[in-house]
Amino acid sequence: MCSDLDSSLEWFWQEKVSDGLYLIRERFYECSKRANIWLLQGSQRDLVIDAGLGLRSLPNYLSGAGLIGSKPVLAVVTHIHFDHSGGLHHFDRVAVHREEAGALAKGDNFETVTWLFDREIVRCPQPGWKASHYRVKAVQPARVLDDGDIINLGDRQLTVLHMPGHSRGSICLHDKKNRILFSGDVECNGCMIDWFPYSNISDYIHTCKRLMTLVENNLVNMVLPGHFDAFDAEKLYNLASSYIANAGVCHTISSCAMRCIASLALWLKNFGRRVDQ
Ligand SMILES: [Zn+2]
Ligand SMILES: [Zn+2]
Repeated sequence: MCSDLDSSLEWFWQEKVSDGLYLIRERFYECSKRANIWLLQGSQRDLVIDAGLGLRSLPNYLSGAGLIGSKPVLAVVTHIHFDHSGGLHHFDRVAVHREEAGALAKGDNFETVTWLFDREIVRCPQPGWKASHYRVKAVQPARVLDDGDIINLGDRQLTVLHMPGHSRGSICLHDKKNRILFSGDVECNGCMIDWFPYSNISDYIHTCKRLMTLVENNLVNMVLPGHFDAFDAEKLYNLASSYIANAGVCHTISSCAMRCIASLALWLKNFGRRVDQ
């Protein structure tokens, strides 16, 4: 029988991006919703950006793989959606933007947009496990983030940029010195979803203008998104400017219709679970 540590070690996959920077993914979650998890090793502390579903312990994996050691570790979530926040409960210290701190502390599975299917998990985490039982657990954040806050890792500093639109508490983390932007789901290599329950198109337009200003001021070289592959500043600029250009009346109407359907489906899913309990 596998120990918890053994099962965590095989559950994740990792790739070194550059010195002190790693991409980690959940191997058995086969779906476009599978989030990128980024590990930044600092001289004084390590930072985990997003935490995946949480079906296995990410900190156990990171220590078992020798990627974290005696330094303190902070897990920061780019936004509260389940594919990013589900694994936070395995960490001792968690940070989230102020707008989503209350929902995380309550374990609000409507705002986390929890939407998982059995077929997406290709290895069952434990006998009898069912996707319909999956929930994001409530987590009390150790740190509540605001726009402009600095997360200091010693030799690396990351600036918190509040970028609502996809969700109300979405953040990007900006490593100014290395011109890296961790974009979460704000910009995912072509995928910009603005029809979730707490999405907002006018906020998203403002966020896109801010992203374009970052590029115009030559502050971004590489974007490390919440899903899919990394991309460059030119693509970031084009994605942001296209969103603004296309966010007209037709887009607003179709997005609102999608939001109503998604909200109803999520509400029914969560209401159904409460009835089951
Ligand atoms: Zn999201
Ligand atoms: Zn996501």
